[in-house]
Amino acid sequence: MEDSYKHQGMRRKLIQKLRDKGIQDERVLSAMGKIPRHVFFENAFLEHAYQDKAFPIGHGQTISQPYTVAFQSELLKVKPGDKILEIGTGSGYQACVLCELGAKVYTIEYQKDLYERTRRFLPQMGYKPHFFSGDGSKGIPAHAPYDKVIVTAGAPSVPSALIEQLSVGGCLVIPVGDNTTQQMLRLTKDSEKKIVKEVFSNFSFVPLKGEQGWQ
Ligand code: SAM
Repeated sequence: MEDSYKHQGMRRKLIQKLRDKGIQDERVLSAMGKIPRHVFFENAFLEHAYQDKAFPIGHGQTISQPYTVAFQSELLKVKPGDKILEIGTGSGYQACVLCELGAKVYTIEYQKDLYERTRRFLPQMGYKPHFFSGDGSKGIPAHAPYDKVIVTAGAPSVPSALIEQLSVGGCLVIPVGDNTTQQMLRLTKDSEKKIVKEVFSNFSFVPLKGEQGWQ
């Protein structure tokens, strides 16, 4: 789908809105400024693409609100070359942002049809994360450790597997709470035994399913 001047203009306005809402990491804003969010939307819903809102992508799931994507990406402090595990591929938009930031991305999706759709679609846009299908609440032990882990679904508690699969010095960004509201947490692994927890504002995510999520 074409990235017209109109779309580029709408995207610039969205990025400014994110800045006004407090996102400060210009690398994150610039990455999001490069990705045509409208290509993730069907024609009938194109006018929603540059609003700061989550939007249904089918199978009861959503493409996250741009502010949420920016907030989580900022918390991750992504460095080029970072090996990042994303739980909840969904539309693939967040994975594109991480790829734009120069990360080596491993992304896992629970919902089979979404996994298939996004695995085919993202490479057409030029983004090539490593795609996995399955229960990401257990992480992907075969490719651990990761410099950073991001969870894009709301968890009832912090899955121990995700902490185990973090490198020392790495961090996990995860929303934790009940089925309506979750607090954004950043857990930094200072040493094998020391985890530093920071608590940020409240968000509302679809549930993290699976063994270490909601059953
Ligand atoms: N990162 C996505 C994006 O950019 O569009 C947002 C995804 S949506 C808010 C959350 C996703 O997490 C859904 O696609 C859902 O199917 C997925 N999910 C839920 N539980 C999961 C699990 N245990 N493992 C992997 N994916 C999971």
